[in-house]
Amino acid sequence: MNLWLSEIAKAINGELRSFSGDVLVKNFSINSKNIEKDTLFIPLKGSRFDGHDFIKEALQNGAISFISQKDFDDLKVPYVKVEDTLLALQSLACYVRRKLNHLKVVGVTGSVGKTSTKEYIFNVLSLRYKAFKNQGNFNNHIGLPISILNMPEDTQVAVFEMGMSNFGEISKLSQIAKPDIGVITNIGIAHIENLKSRYNIFLAKSEIQDGMPESGILIINNDNDILNLHKKELKRKVVTIGIENESNFRAQNVQRHQNGFSFEVGGYTYFIESFNFHDIYNSLFAIAVGTILGVDRELIKEAIRQKERLKRRFEVIKKGSITIVDDTYNASTHSMLSAIDSICEFDGKKILVLGDMLELGEFSEEEHRKVGRYILQKPIDVVICTGKDAFYIFDEVKKKDGTKAYFVTKDECLDVLKREVTSNSTILFKASRGIKLDEVVDEFLKER
Ligand code: ATP
Ligand code: MG
Repeated sequence: MNLWLSEIAKAINGELRSFSGDVLVKNFSINSKNIEKDTLFIPLKGSRFDGHDFIKEALQNGAISFISQKDFDDLKVPYVKVEDTLLALQSLACYVRRKLNHLKVVGVTGSVGKTSTKEYIFNVLSLRYKAFKNQGNFNNHIGLPISILNMPEDTQVAVFEMGMSNFGEISKLSQIAKPDIGVITNIGIAHIENLKSRYNIFLAKSEIQDGMPESGILIINNDNDILNLHKKELKRKVVTIGIENESNFRAQNVQRHQNGFSFEVGGYTYFIESFNFHDIYNSLFAIAVGTILGVDRELIKEAIRQKERLKRRFEVIKKGSITIVDDTYNASTHSMLSAIDSICEFDGKKILVLGDMLELGEFSEEEHRKVGRYILQKPIDVVICTGKDAFYIFDEVKKKDGTKAYFVTKDECLDVLKREVTSNSTILFKASRGIKLDEVVDEFLKER
């Protein structure tokens, strides 16, 4: 987005301190090391660092200007003085979004599957439109506005992931991005420590409506119990996707093939190259968004075939006859059960290496036990648990004859795994990111 500094100053209600006339800004950065040509540096105050200490570095690295809460007149570089740089960043993103009133925005929220769904939607839209997405996990009160500022001006549709951990956060993001279409992937249990109940999680995700126009459309997963139960409380037109329940976009005749799943929607067959059952839901959202925005179904079919490989999100790695599924990016009960379901479809000996699901507060023991009880019903051969509350998974699984259960330290995982793995095994690694189970995966791969 190209903006004159004087226009920026007006938009964020700041004071223009100009020394050498106006300057044209073309890029925006909050990182003093990541400066492209014509960049406006936006210093933020964090818990450990204050971006204002890096203003000089940003200028040395080529920044054309900056905004600031402090006086820097001695630098003799034009800048904008504001009261709060974070608020300024957000107001500037709001201003840009309003300016781009032709732009269609899709906002994606939900407990799990946001990034995966965003990637599918982006793939579909980019075959028809000049499309944009926020990179990686730039999904919060800082990542979203900076993504909007750096969006090319000729973008026709943008897909933004929106994350949260408490009330009020999605509302803010929605008011900045103003989505025309809102996607709620599901309501799980992530962040229940803050929000206390799943209904409250539903309410917090529903805040995506706050910035949507009256004519906006919400797309929800009808197989999710809470969304199904409470969808009547939503205040925008609701479109549903699902497999089990009757839905506007329902996948039927789901079949597993050697390299993915095929399914029919409205009598038309789609195929996704994924071993992960829940990618059917994620791709259904893309089918729904694509259809609403007028993408031809042949193009949709082509676009969802392959999603960008997302690191450590059910990443399937073949090592000889052994299959490693690296799902260590994150874990909650919902995604644990879903990943276990998917693993059951693989051939050979099935081994799970599971770590804690974090941030579940008072619900933690019961949620881990739930995972354990789920495994009892499944054809799993070995379960190796590590961490603290993963003990409760172990405690349930050990009750079953025929499934070997271990509770070990992270360092011991590898030894147990090496003892248990045989040719033609499939190993699922999954835990919350904080457990860093990816280190065990990397060690294991190094030794193979
Ligand atoms: P975050 O909150 O960390 O940004 P996210 O909502 O963006 O997460 P993804 O990164 O897409 O979610 O996936 C996170 C984890 O959930 C991965 O382990 C992935 O395999 C699994 N997952 C993805 N989609 C679904 C889904 N629809 N249902 C259950 N699990 C899913
Ligand atoms: Mg994400």
